[in-house]
Amino acid sequence: MTVTSDDVVALVSDLVRIESVTPWLVPGGAGEAEVARYLADWLSDLPVDVVVDEIAPGRTNLVATLRGTGGGPTLCLNAHADTVGFEGWPDDALQPRVDGDRLYGLGAADDKGCCAAALLAMRELAGTPLRGDLVVACVADEEGVSIGTERLVQQLRADAAVVLEPDALPRLVVEHQGFGWIDVVVHGRAAHGSAPDDGIDAIVAMADIVTRLHRQDVEVFAAHPDPLNGRTVFHTGTVRGGTDYATYPSLCTLGIEIGTQTGERLDDRVAEIEAMIDDVRRDVPELAAEVVVRLEREPFVARGHEPLLACLDRAAERTLGGRLTPSGLNAWTDAALMQNAGIPTLLLGPLGGNFHAPDEWLSISETVSVVDLLVVAAREYLG
Ligand SMILES: [Zn+2]
Repeated sequence: MTVTSDDVVALVSDLVRIESVTPWLVPGGAGEAEVARYLADWLSDLPVDVVVDEIAPGRTNLVATLRGTGGGPTLCLNAHADTVGFEGWPDDALQPRVDGDRLYGLGAADDKGCCAAALLAMRELAGTPLRGDLVVACVADEEGVSIGTERLVQQLRADAAVVLEPDALPRLVVEHQGFGWIDVVVHGRAAHGSAPDDGIDAIVAMADIVTRLHRQDVEVFAAHPDPLNGRTVFHTGTVRGGTDYATYPSLCTLGIEIGTQTGERLDDRVAEIEAMIDDVRRDVPELAAEVVVRLEREPFVARGHEPLLACLDRAAERTLGGRLTPSGLNAWTDAALMQNAGIPTLLLGPLGGNFHAPDEWLSISETVSVVDLLVVAAREYLG
């Protein structure tokens, strides 16, 4: 292998220096356009077709294709070019810093190290004639609502994909949780503060619902974690309600994030919350409430991936000294969108830490290992 730690440090450092905060999360964030421009230039010496696809102003997918000689399958490597915001960083989020095996910086691990791994693997493979096509997609908006991968799967014809997100070798993610962003809306009745017989307190009713959700989290989700995907995700996110000190609140809205395990649907979670509302209504029959699903993302379950898995396992035996370990995740990734578009998908990535937090770091040596693994596996898979 000729990809070195220096190659990884050079490319990831350049990517960290380019701000690509997802504007969906942080208004004013730069998006991915500048990263795409930089990468198109980085790829210009290689025999690859490069498409910079502007999905919305400043929001771009970079899709690079290394054409094979024909008759082979197409493999896609997907990593995301956007990051979360700077929150909590002193002022050095965009200043990459190397300390031992760690490269620190915003997005170093999530997911610029993975963009770099995919591109370095492509550069390595560009020297060998292969039958199949290799596609590297550095996509937009994974930290938002995944407009990048949603666009990609409309255009891409691929026989298999590896989604790259920071994780840890030799783990290979074959399934992960889905999730929903849900509003619970409680309607009470406004009344003067001195008229308790007229008012219905929407906030008190909501407190009762929150208590029940918390009890479900402790007694069900925490007590019975999924063997692969861990504890079902649940937390409250936002709460709004009431108008002023002197008035019974007629409206309270709670925003939650809640997970689904493989085999479950978000409708199952909605039905559980509706049952909680029915319980609360026993004490307050006039209460009206509804559950509104704002975003639904299905769980990921790899299917049809066996040919690629066999190549990855053989590559792991050669480069890591043992096979990969089928694993799960309690987070959601674009792998679900790729798989649900009919592309057999697996997920892996290099070790890192402090994701979405100050001092995010990437393991440099493990990024080199990911490149080695991808190169050997792709060489066999693409023939
Ligand atoms: Zn990520």
